[in-house]
Amino acid sequence: MDNYLTSNISSINNNFSSDISATWKECLRVIKDNVSQMTYNTWFLPIKPLEMSDSILKVQLPSQFFWEWIDEHFNTLITKTIHEVLGPNAKLAYVISEEKETFEISSSIKKELPSNNSTAISTKLKSVFETFLNPRYKFDNFIKGEGNQLARAAAGAISDNPGGTSFNPFFVYGGVGLGKTHLIQAIGNKILDNFPDKKIIYLSADTFTVEFVEAIQSNKINEFSNFYRNMDVLIIDDIQFLIGKEKTQDYFFQIFNILHQLRKQIILSSDKPPKDLKGLDDRLISRFQWGLTADIQPPDLETRIAILKKKSEDYGMNIANDILEYIASNITSNIRELEGCLIKLLANVSLNSREINLALTKKTVQEIATDRKINITIETITKTVCNYLKVDENKIRDKTRKKEVVLARQVAMYLSKELTKCSLKTIGLNFGGRDHSTVIHACNTIEGMKIIDNTVKHLVDNLRTQIELSST
Ligand code: ADP
Ligand code: MG
Repeated sequence: MDNYLTSNISSINNNFSSDISATWKECLRVIKDNVSQMTYNTWFLPIKPLEMSDSILKVQLPSQFFWEWIDEHFNTLITKTIHEVLGPNAKLAYVISEEKETFEISSSIKKELPSNNSTAISTKLKSVFETFLNPRYKFDNFIKGEGNQLARAAAGAISDNPGGTSFNPFFVYGGVGLGKTHLIQAIGNKILDNFPDKKIIYLSADTFTVEFVEAIQSNKINEFSNFYRNMDVLIIDDIQFLIGKEKTQDYFFQIFNILHQLRKQIILSSDKPPKDLKGLDDRLISRFQWGLTADIQPPDLETRIAILKKKSEDYGMNIANDILEYIASNITSNIRELEGCLIKLLANVSLNSREINLALTKKTVQEIATDRKINITIETITKTVCNYLKVDENKIRDKTRKKEVVLARQVAMYLSKELTKCSLKTIGLNFGGRDHSTVIHACNTIEGMKIIDNTVKHLVDNLRTQIELSST
């Protein structure tokens, strides 16, 4: 324990708070804002605050190697953080833990070790590892229904035997607000209950991409890969965000292969099934189908009522059945909105000490429908539709009568009427100055096609999901 290393921060000021762990938490908060999740997990969470005396904050690190790494890479950040939290004259001291238990570190990090020092890293690293799972998402509060039956059943099986079922990868897809994130995080939380030693990480494909780019820029791509290759359970949400990001896909492909080979559990979510992920590497699409693909469909009326009942009880509200039924009958495609409606009602009741009655409920449901429409623009709709159908955006506004352009134009008009508050006249003007009767005709045509042609129905549903997703 004598291995006492003092960082090169200047003199001392005696204004420490007495609560060391609160102080350290504050430091971590600052640090977290300045580094990637992976860096934070690997290098900062394992640091243990020990004591403060004479304005020196003393922390314990798992190994000599650890200290060297931190000192080399994060000295400036740590200095700045300590100054910010503890004042300009504060000082940080490191103590090296004497524990010599081994922690698997990747070969590439070993290479970075000074040749005279191959100290093992403490198992502490693992026990303080952050999963980024939200503990709120449990199986207990995930209501089963026809729309999520298969996905829910598979999720349960995986939690009992991660990596050991044939559901690997487990690929869940479905529209916005239908419970994908809830379900895949519930798996993570349950695995953590069942197997506390497993290394689990949850992140969205967006975050994964950001971390990847950061790792490239800071020359830490090996560290990046090794971090993910070391997981027992890798949960990636909204994998469709990898579309168009070829380099990230390449690295993800490698990580996927290694984890899969090692029989580690991979869990993915997406807004559409693998085969519809246009712009994603075919090798990935084919691998996504190796395990189990399960969809989540919008909940039926009974399930929506059950969800509302459960949620209102969780909020400590006792709401009459006819009110729950009214909400469930009028908010049909998105569970997040069901929840939003309850919260709005709750706010109204507690702020204005009003009683929940049907009139208030109707008004609240109305407001939610309006909120939904405000965020979506004709421009977003046009872009999304053209992108999806591979039609030039300018063509949609000129006089072309080519079949695929006409379809794109009519679908975009139809969705503009459905998803925005714009008048028929405005919609017509946005599509090359067309008349409002043209918009009505387009809407009727699409309505009709949806009934007789399932592919059109799917097309419209998919696009609606995508537009809602990009507008929330
Ligand atoms: P998605 O990831 O598919 O967009 P989320 O998982 O974020 O949807 O779900 C939106 C909200 O609805 C969350 O608050 C979630 O807890 C809730 N929710 C979704 N499905 C269910 C369900 N089956 N039972 C209870 N709550 C649900
Ligand atoms: Mg989600």
